[in-house]
Amino acid sequence: MTTGRARCLSPGGLARRAERLQKEDWEFRSFLKGCGDRKVDAAVRKLYMAARKTVDCRKCRRCCIELRVPVTEKDVARLAAAVGMRPGAFRSRYLVADGDEPRKFLMRERPCPFLRKDGCAHYAARPDECRAFPFLDRKDFASRTMEMISNQRICPIVFEVYQGLKKDLWHDEEGGWDCCEEE
Ligand code: SF4
Ligand code: SF4
Repeated sequence: MTTGRARCLSPGGLARRAERLQKEDWEFRSFLKGCGDRKVDAAVRKLYMAARKTVDCRKCRRCCIELRVPVTEKDVARLAAAVGMRPGAFRSRYLVADGDEPRKFLMRERPCPFLRKDGCAHYAARPDECRAFPFLDRKDFASRTMEMISNQRICPIVFEVYQGLKKDLWHDEEGGWDCCEEE
């Protein structure tokens, strides 16, 4: 069984490793759907707490570099005030429409234009999605595994958690199948 240890990998190394594990990760996704949500969420919580202690977001910033952040109207009001612009001017300068969704936007540029060497220039006013990423403290992990398989290509924390889950829930010590029953 392959384990995590993503924190030492370069961005390219992490993506390549996630690519190599893809087949196994999709098999595990099907397995997880048959597990109890409470058991999976508890295991995710434990792994997330451990990963946060070993992966330093301040040294990573890959989500700010590689993702185009969704921005809501509420985020626009907060960010525009922080930047010192009117909301309309802020939208025109920094955002594009998010498909056909009314009043939903994405950052126009990638990396995010507010990323600086020492971190987010408007950290206190950052969008809600930036606060919530990588979404590991939300319930129902098993229903969000597609997003996790994709995000582990860029986020070492997600990689650690998904690979750690495979180790904890999938195979028992003899290499057979764990039952993954709700306790
Ligand atoms: S959330 Fe993930 S991708 Fe973003 S900075 Fe932290 S470790 Fe890196
Ligand atoms: S707003 Fe800040 S936290 Fe969000 S993506 Fe941009 S730099 Fe990163």
